Amino acid sequence: MSDTYRNYCNGEWVESESGNTFSVNNPADVEDIIGHFQLSTAADANQAIDAASAAQPEWAATPGVDRGKILLETASLLEDRMDELTKTLSREEGKTRSEAAGEVQRAVDIFYYYAGKARDFGGTIKSPSEPNMELYTKSEPLGTVGLITPWNYPIAIPAWKLAPALAAGNTVVLKPASEAPRVSQAIFECLDEAGLPEGVANYVTGSGSEVGSALYQHDSIDGVSFTGSTTVGTMVAQSAADDLKRVQCEMGGKNPTIVMPSADLDEAVTIVGSGTFGTTGQSCTATSRAIVHEDIYNEFTQLLTEYAESLDIGPGLEDPDMGPHVSQDEVESTLYYVDVGEKEGATLETGGSRPTDQQYDDGHFVEPTVFSDVTSDMQIAQEEIFGPVLSIIEVADFEEALAVANDVQFGLSSSIVTQDLTEANQFIDDIEAGVAKVNEKTTGLELHVPFGGYKNSSTNTYREQGDAGLDFFTTTKTVYLNY
Ligand code: NAD
Repeated sequence: MSDTYRNYCNGEWVESESGNTFSVNNPADVEDIIGHFQLSTAADANQAIDAASAAQPEWAATPGVDRGKILLETASLLEDRMDELTKTLSREEGKTRSEAAGEVQRAVDIFYYYAGKARDFGGTIKSPSEPNMELYTKSEPLGTVGLITPWNYPIAIPAWKLAPALAAGNTVVLKPASEAPRVSQAIFECLDEAGLPEGVANYVTGSGSEVGSALYQHDSIDGVSFTGSTTVGTMVAQSAADDLKRVQCEMGGKNPTIVMPSADLDEAVTIVGSGTFGTTGQSCTATSRAIVHEDIYNEFTQLLTEYAESLDIGPGLEDPDMGPHVSQDEVESTLYYVDVGEKEGATLETGGSRPTDQQYDDGHFVEPTVFSDVTSDMQIAQEEIFGPVLSIIEVADFEEALAVANDVQFGLSSSIVTQDLTEANQFIDDIEAGVAKVNEKTTGLELHVPFGGYKNSSTNTYREQGDAGLDFFTTTKTVYLNY
């Protein structure tokens, strides 16, 4: 008998007024039910927003050092639960144990990091133009904020929105993705145990159209921070902007790695292969295009194909090289793009199907897939696939490689493999992406540096993480004090 989990509203664990729940299962074994979660209504979301709004003045008035202490204790409580949360994450989202452990550690570290930042929250003093004058800025919390998160980093992304929001004195309502809601709920259990005052942070599960839309439509919401697809994010951004609410949307990617002839080919294959197939390709920063110089194209394609074929696929809990997709919908989406690629004339070098062995029958598995002979105008080179699929594109020189890399609507992460310093610097200057890496894979970013994209990957207003992660949740008052 699996557990039923409740919403967290105004410091209480409560059921939805709908009386309905939805179930979440293990993508590696659909018979394994993680639990049942509240199928909440807009009224449930509005109740949580009202609680957050009522709690906001007192939380804003709480000294930063005291807010920081609660975040510190939350980090420590999450850390105590590392093994359990790693297992939960792997079971509900499908990540390998190693990937899940890294993600839970990330959430812990984020809470430690912003616990310190809460103490620093303040402002700056400027030189006034007249005597007997103080001129300074005062940082204030934005207010009551809605947080909408995707399933692919189900604890790290809630953590990197929640921790800076709370550090800066905001109150929040979080709606996690319905595919993997349990692991983010644990953050609220820890916040509660750490002594967070009631109403400051609230958690409501349910559909995007019902609960998510309440989070940017309610009058008491001052801002909404969204991570997810470009389609939904665009709608969220437009709707929030209509009401002059502050909005931040982090969305999709189509991340390139350029491989130049000076590269060490084995290193290049590892960089591209791990960037593509890590987290089953279900990262916004996953490598999905290898843009390869013609002198090394054939050899790179052969080695990369061998790399893909060497990967061991299996249930995340067994810690294979690659786990399953999160859901049947995601499997179908990936297989749709395989079909598109073949019809467009790309060469399927390997993969492209579900693995046939019986052990994969109850899970959402797809083989690591490599296409060669891809051209930049093909749909598989333009659209986010969000699965373990690589498109290899051949180019004649560095200028063409850069042009191809920039020839997409997205601009999240990017990388180049080269030993040529001029190419490396030219790439850093001219790539249209929020993250530019040299001799590194496109995935992975440390928590103390800003993260966000160019073009349709981001609303391009605010960055997340690092110092910049506080900006969205902060408003600035300029003060003249004439004495
Ligand atoms: P999604 O857009 O389908 O859902 C994201 C969240 O929005 C979920 O909580 C969902 O329930 C909610 N939602 C859906 N419809 C809504 C609506 N009408 N109103 C309000 N909320 C609604 O995305 P997903 O499938 O969960 O996640 C995968 C996507 O997220 C990929 O495109 C990936 O690139 C992107 N992503 C981006 C980043 C980044 O930082 N740029 C990080 C991780 C994931």
